Amino acid sequence: MKRKLYLETFGCQMNVLDSELVLGQLRAHGYESTEDRDRADVILYNTCSVREHAEQKVWSRLGELRPQKQQRPELVIGVIGCMAERDGVDLFRRYPHVDLLCGPGELDKLTQLVHNAVVTGSDRPRQTALMGSNTRRSATLAAAEDNLELLDLSRSINSEDDVAQAYVRITRGCNKFCSYCVVPYTRGPEVHRPPQNIIDEVKRLADVGVREVTLLGQTVNHYHFRHDDGRQTTFAQLLYDIHEAVPHLPRLRFVTSFPRDFTNEALAAMRDCPRICRYLHAPAQHGSDRILKSMNRGYTAGQYYDFVDRAREMMSDISIASDFIVGFPGETEDDFELTMEMVRRCRFKNSFIFKYSPRPGTVAIDRFVDDVSDADKRSRNNRLLAVQQEVSESINRQMIDQTVRVLVEGESKLVSRQAANTGKVELGWEKRPVALAADETQMVGRTPGDQVVVFSGPLSLKGQLVDVRINGAKNLTLFGEYCGSKSPRQTSSITAGSTIAHSV
Ligand code: SF4
Repeated sequence: MKRKLYLETFGCQMNVLDSELVLGQLRAHGYESTEDRDRADVILYNTCSVREHAEQKVWSRLGELRPQKQQRPELVIGVIGCMAERDGVDLFRRYPHVDLLCGPGELDKLTQLVHNAVVTGSDRPRQTALMGSNTRRSATLAAAEDNLELLDLSRSINSEDDVAQAYVRITRGCNKFCSYCVVPYTRGPEVHRPPQNIIDEVKRLADVGVREVTLLGQTVNHYHFRHDDGRQTTFAQLLYDIHEAVPHLPRLRFVTSFPRDFTNEALAAMRDCPRICRYLHAPAQHGSDRILKSMNRGYTAGQYYDFVDRAREMMSDISIASDFIVGFPGETEDDFELTMEMVRRCRFKNSFIFKYSPRPGTVAIDRFVDDVSDADKRSRNNRLLAVQQEVSESINRQMIDQTVRVLVEGESKLVSRQAANTGKVELGWEKRPVALAADETQMVGRTPGDQVVVFSGPLSLKGQLVDVRINGAKNLTLFGEYCGSKSPRQTSSITAGSTIAHSV
């Protein structure tokens, strides 16, 4: 009988992809996944250390498992990902019922660790694979990289999966060492995958019907691969190569970009290749040079503005999103005003805004006093959010009466919840009750510029690229009408000014 595996994922897209890969490996070794944690033989949490909130959820899940473990000592409980790497064996002291730890740079060993834990029964020795403990950075680095590459290559891709979107990793790790971030310590130094392996993976995904591939890297646009003969494949070249080699992939996008590394060549690739989405997620983090320096971001606000100006000069319809941290140590009202100014001037499609909290394992926790009060952090968070909402709504309102091409992700969660709770749904941007045809519901999808679009249509549209005419807009959502099969193929993407036809 197959052993049942429950795997819950926290954090970024990189973790989502890691989970998919380890799930594939474990399935190939006789495990079957289950959504029911209580019936699982093996419970794994793929964790994130970047935000305190995600960490607290993991602590709480582990706490909940104590009684289960007492009742079923043979149950295997594992923590994988960034928290495992950062906390290391200290985690066993706090949660002695955990059996297994595996860092994100060691996931190729996870199947063996799980197997060891399962076969040794309730008296099992603890299983660990942590980068910090076996120094992959040493002489074994090349072999370790090869093993991680094998993990990516082992991905099982088949036509029954019926997925419209997929992630493909192009780099692992990060060399930037931003002072508030633990990722360079948990994921290790930057490693770039061979371009042909990436192209082959994208092609295999497109062959089975995937419509949108997102290339992943912590600093995705810093990609550069040095071949044995000395040639180098840059990020720009990789984009051109994928675009040419996989003509049947309708959409290609990438996250997350590091502003300082954005070359004109990469922007030109986005401009020249019509199936590359004109969307950049390029976190600025702050508008004050003083704070950017404390954050060790390696650029000034002026350089960030220059990057945004270059991008918009080359593609007036490009959609740019950012991240910001408010309340970083030493932040004054004047510093914060510079961030507000940046949001107004750059006209981001949206920004992910976070209140600073010192994270264990980072430089900032040792070097700086967390001296901005909670009240100031909250107030700055709310004020920045309000400015961003104004900007987002004004950008979205420019889309009204335009037809956009949308990749349909599925039924709107809000509608499913409403229908489940009340038996009725309210549709559209005016929240008016709408009579739906028997086979219709409220669907949600995304434009090439990553705007969320909600519209009425049949569930069968899930996973398809369809045209929707926009008739309403809020700061986070566009609302529209499904054009059906007779819609125009040309679409308009988001712009902070004019609109240019673009065909993804
Ligand atoms: S670029 Fe900075 S914030 Fe992003 S993963 Fe690297 S160290 Fe962390």
